[in-house]
Amino acid sequence: MRLGLSILAALAVLLFGQLLLALIIHGEQQRDADLYRSAALQELAARRARVEGLLNANLISVRTLRAEIALSPSIDPRRFERLVSELLTADLHTRHIAAAPDLVIRHVYPRAGNEEALGLDYRSNAEQFESIQAAIEAEDIVINGPVDLVQGGRALIGRVPVYERESDRFWGVISVVIDHERLFRDAGLIGTGQWRFGIRGADGSGTDGEIIVGEASLWGLDPVTVPVELPVGSWSLAAAPAGGAWERPLMSYGWRWAAGSALNLALAVLIFGLLASRLRLQGALATISRQARFDSLTELPNREFFMYQLEEAVHAARRDRGSFALLFIDLDHFKEINDSLGHEAGDELLRVVSGRIRGMIRGNDLVGRFGGDEFVVLVRELSAPVDAEIVATKVLNALHPAVSIKGHDVTIEGSVGIAVYPDDGQTPGDLLKHADLAMYAAKSAGRGTSYFFNDSLRRQAESHLAVHNEIKRGLVEGQFCVFYQPLVDSASRKVVGVEALARWRHPERGLLGPAHFIPVAEHTGAIRGLGDFVLQRACEDLVRMRRSGLDLNLSINRSSREFNDRRTVMRWLDIIDQCGIAREHFTFEITESVLMPDRARQHRLLRRLNAEGIGLSIDDFGQGYSSVNYLKKFPVRQLKIDRVFVSDMEDSPEARALVEALVKMAQALHLEVVAEGVESEAQADRLAALGCQLLQGFHFGRPMALEQLIERLAPRSVRRE
Ligand code: C2E
Ligand code: MG
Ligand code: MG
Repeated sequence: MRLGLSILAALAVLLFGQLLLALIIHGEQQRDADLYRSAALQELAARRARVEGLLNANLISVRTLRAEIALSPSIDPRRFERLVSELLTADLHTRHIAAAPDLVIRHVYPRAGNEEALGLDYRSNAEQFESIQAAIEAEDIVINGPVDLVQGGRALIGRVPVYERESDRFWGVISVVIDHERLFRDAGLIGTGQWRFGIRGADGSGTDGEIIVGEASLWGLDPVTVPVELPVGSWSLAAAPAGGAWERPLMSYGWRWAAGSALNLALAVLIFGLLASRLRLQGALATISRQARFDSLTELPNREFFMYQLEEAVHAARRDRGSFALLFIDLDHFKEINDSLGHEAGDELLRVVSGRIRGMIRGNDLVGRFGGDEFVVLVRELSAPVDAEIVATKVLNALHPAVSIKGHDVTIEGSVGIAVYPDDGQTPGDLLKHADLAMYAAKSAGRGTSYFFNDSLRRQAESHLAVHNEIKRGLVEGQFCVFYQPLVDSASRKVVGVEALARWRHPERGLLGPAHFIPVAEHTGAIRGLGDFVLQRACEDLVRMRRSGLDLNLSINRSSREFNDRRTVMRWLDIIDQCGIAREHFTFEITESVLMPDRARQHRLLRRLNAEGIGLSIDDFGQGYSSVNYLKKFPVRQLKIDRVFVSDMEDSPEARALVEALVKMAQALHLEVVAEGVESEAQADRLAALGCQLLQGFHFGRPMALEQLIERLAPRSVRRE
C-alpha cells in the first residue's frame, strides 16, 4: 500500500517531467523554426530584388518604345524593326514586342515565328481585350499571364497604352512578351536545393491570384511571402523548405531528450526514495506511539495512557457534574503461578485475564494494565455507586473459571478496590491511591472480593499523609539517627561488620523503630529522602569507626521502592565514594521481592550496583518465594536467613531442617550465609556448625548508637580519638 503510493507519486513526477520536457523542446523547436523562417525571408528578399530587377529590365524597352511612338505616332515596319532591335538585347527575356495601333497588331519583332500574331484584333479576343482595357485604364504597363499565345507556347505579356503626345489621342497598345520560365530561372526561383519557391498573383492580383510558378502544395506549407511590385499590382513570392516542414523533428533534439529524461528519472527515483522512507518513518512512528500508549503483552492501555484518559474523565465529570468509578484489580497469588509454571505461563494467564475483564465491561468503559498483575477499569456514567460493585462482581466472576495452561488447570482470583468520583477523590492521583488502598483492604478482608474506599481507609490515607509530612520535617530537623548492630564471624566470634538500622527520635513519641515509619515512608515515597539520609550518616559514621580502630564492613537496607532510576543509584555511589572507603566494604540488603521477574528496571540497577563493586545481600531470606532460579540469575553475594527460622530452631526439628537446607542451598550457589536473630550461645553454636559464616542478633549486641558501639568494641588505646 505504502509502496504503491510511492510508486504512483514517482510515476506522476516522471510523467509531469516528461511533459514539461516536451514543452521546453517544443519551444526550442518553435524558436528554431522562427530562425529558419527569418533566414528564408532574407533569401526571399534577395530573390524578389532579382525578379523585380529582371522584370524592369525587360519593361524598359516597352517604356522607351512608348515614348518614341508618343512623339511620332506614324510608324512603319522598318522604323519599328529598327527601334525594337536596338532595344532588345540578348540578356533580356523578351521573346518579342508587338505594336497594335487601334488595337490591331500591325508590327511584331522579331517577325520570324510570330507572323500569326499579325492582324490580330484585340477586340476579337475577349481574354486579351480585358487586360488591354485594364492597361488603358491604368495608363501604365499591366503584366498579364502567363497566357497561351496565338503563335503557340505560354508567356507573360506586358501591355501599355500609347497616347500621341501632341493630340493626346489614343494611339494603340504595345505588348511585350516575356519568357517567364527563363526569367524566373535566372532569378534563382527554379531548381534551387534548400528552398522551394513559387509566385502567384497572375495579372498582378498578389496573394489571391493564380499560380504563376511553383506547385500549389507550396502554399499549404505555411510559406513565408514577400510582394513583388509590378507597375500595376503585385505578385506574391513565396518560399518554404524543400523538406516541407519548418520545424526540425522532435527526435532531432536527441541529447536534450536524453539529458532531460535522465534528470526526470533521477528526480522520480529521488521522490520515490524520499516518499518511501517518509512513509516508513510514519509507520514506525505510529508503531512507537502505539507502543507508548499500549501494553505490548495484553494490548491494553498502559499506565500513562490510562492516566491520561482518567484525567479526561475527571474533566468531563467535573463539567457535567457526573460520576464515575475507578476499579483497581489485583490478581491473588499470581506470583506463585508465575514462579511454579514459569514466565511464559504467567504471560499467557495475563492475556486470558485481560480478555475476560475486557469482555465484562461496556463499550465506553476502559480497561488498562498497570504492569505486573494490576489492572484498572474506568466505569463511566455511574448512576449509583452500587453499579461499580456490580461491575466488580462481574469481573471477579469472569476470572473464576479455570484456565488451562501448559496442561495445568489454573484458577485465579482477584481483589478489587473501588473509588468513586467525586466522593472518594477529585483528582486522578487521589482516586488511584484510594482505589489501591481499597484493593489492599479487599485483599486483607479475604481475597476474591471487592471493597469500596471508605472512611476508615480515608483516615488511614490521611494518617499516611500526616506521617509523611512528619518524616519530611523530622529529616530537616535532624530527628532521625542510625543505630548499628554487630555482625560476627561464626568461627572467630569477632565483629567484622555492622548493619545500619534507622531510628527516629520522635519529639513526642520517643525513640521509634523502623516498623513505625519505614512502611509508611515506602508507601508515600518519603523513603527516598530517608534512604539517602541513612546512607549518608552511615558513611560518616563508618569513617569515625575506622578512626577509632574499628575496621568494619557496613550492611545497609534498601527498599525496592528506592530503586527508581539510574540517578538514584549514581547518587548512592557518589555518597559512598565521598567518604573515601572502598566500595567493597559496602553491602546493600534487599528483599526477595526485588528479584521477581517483572522488575526489569530494578534488575538493571542491581546489576549496575554489583558491577560498581557493591555487594548485594538478600534480607529476611526464606519468607518470600524466591526460587533458586532467581538467585542464580543475580550477582548476589550473601543470604540472610530470616530470624523466624532461627528462633524456631530450638523447638522445632522442621525449622532446623529448613535452616540446614537453606545453608546447603546457599553453599551450592557459593553464597555467604548470615543468620539473623541469634539470641543465645546454643543457637550460635548450632548455626556455626551448620556452616553459617556470619551471625547477628541480640546475643552479640542490640542495635546501638555509634558512641556506644565504639565504647564497646574499639581497642582502648584509640577509643577516644
Ligand atoms: P532487618 O534488616 O532484618 O534488620 C534486623 C532487624 O532485626 C532489626 O530490627 C533488629 O533490631 C532486629 N534484630 C536483630 N537481632 C535480633 C534478635 O536477636 N532478636 C530479635 N527479636 N530481633 C533482632 P529493626 O531495627 O526494628 O528493623 C526492622 C527492619 O526495618 C529491618 O529489618 C529493615 O528491613 C528495616 N530497616 C531498618 N532500617 C532501615 C533503613 O535504613 N532503610 C530501610 N529501607 N529499611 C530499614
Ligand atoms: Mg537488614
Ligand atoms: Mg533481616
